[in-house]
Amino acid sequence: MRYFAVIGNPINHSKSPLMHNSAFSGLRLDGHYGRYLLEDGDDFRKRVLGLKLSGCNITLPFKEYAFRACDEIDSLALKIGAINTIVLENGQLKGFNTDGEGFCESIQNLRDLDTFLILGAGGSAKSIAFSLQARGKRVLVANRSEERLLFFKDAGFDVSTFENLKYESFDVVVNSTSAGLNDEALPLKREVILPLFSGAKLVYDCIYGKETSFLKLADEIGVDRKDGKEMLVNQGVLAFEIFTNIKDRRESIKKYMLRAFDF
Ligand code: NDP
Repeated sequence: MRYFAVIGNPINHSKSPLMHNSAFSGLRLDGHYGRYLLEDGDDFRKRVLGLKLSGCNITLPFKEYAFRACDEIDSLALKIGAINTIVLENGQLKGFNTDGEGFCESIQNLRDLDTFLILGAGGSAKSIAFSLQARGKRVLVANRSEERLLFFKDAGFDVSTFENLKYESFDVVVNSTSAGLNDEALPLKREVILPLFSGAKLVYDCIYGKETSFLKLADEIGVDRKDGKEMLVNQGVLAFEIFTNIKDRRESIKKYMLRAFDF
């Protein structure tokens, strides 16, 4: 039996154990996936190695700790500076980041969409921005405060503070802020969002499991909208492929992982 886990703090809410165990049993593979609450990031590497896992996913707030702990880092994760998936082999940690690829995989007509406005400049914005950049998409990253935008500017993205955001039409408007996660807040003022939405083909909120004010506003305008559920499932599917080395069962893995949401 091979053991896997998701590591974070808090960790009780995580859907990852249900998703991965559903895929292990659906595909009749010998694997078990649990959850591990890490109090803090001290001795991250030593503590992860001590769990004797074959692989793990890393969630808030340890993705940067994981990045510093890995011996080998995949090229996309290297740009992002954060890790959400680790494979452990012979005492070595190999790191990946599947969040942005999970986002891209969740948009069926991605090929027809060229311009993206990402609201927010945190961890999810980084992974989404680099995955879109790798596909040749034009990305503008806008954030409430200026500080976090420097990283994106240095990486060659167009950036703007919310305050200086000029109206321009984007195919996709993405909320990658945590506005709306635990409240009814919008990331930007309604009067700023409305013209952005009316020029968009898709409105995407990375938050999942609730009808955010952002998504409700998209409904008001009548523009296509999507929440973060498929991004979550797809990052899990891609991590599962890395853990198991199975590359030709993506749709089956996804089908089994989606069952986690029936509970
Ligand atoms: P971070 O903490 O790394 O970044 C948070 C970002 O949100 C910052 O840019 C911050 O701006 C901005 N922000 C926070 N509150 C507000 C507000 N009230 N108004 C405007 N901007 C605000 O978070 P993550 O990038 O890790 O996560 C962001 C969201 O994405 C969360 O809701 C999370 O649940 C979701 N997520 C979903 C995933 C999925 O698989 N579906 C995966 C990862 C994340 P500032 O710099 O000014 O503070």
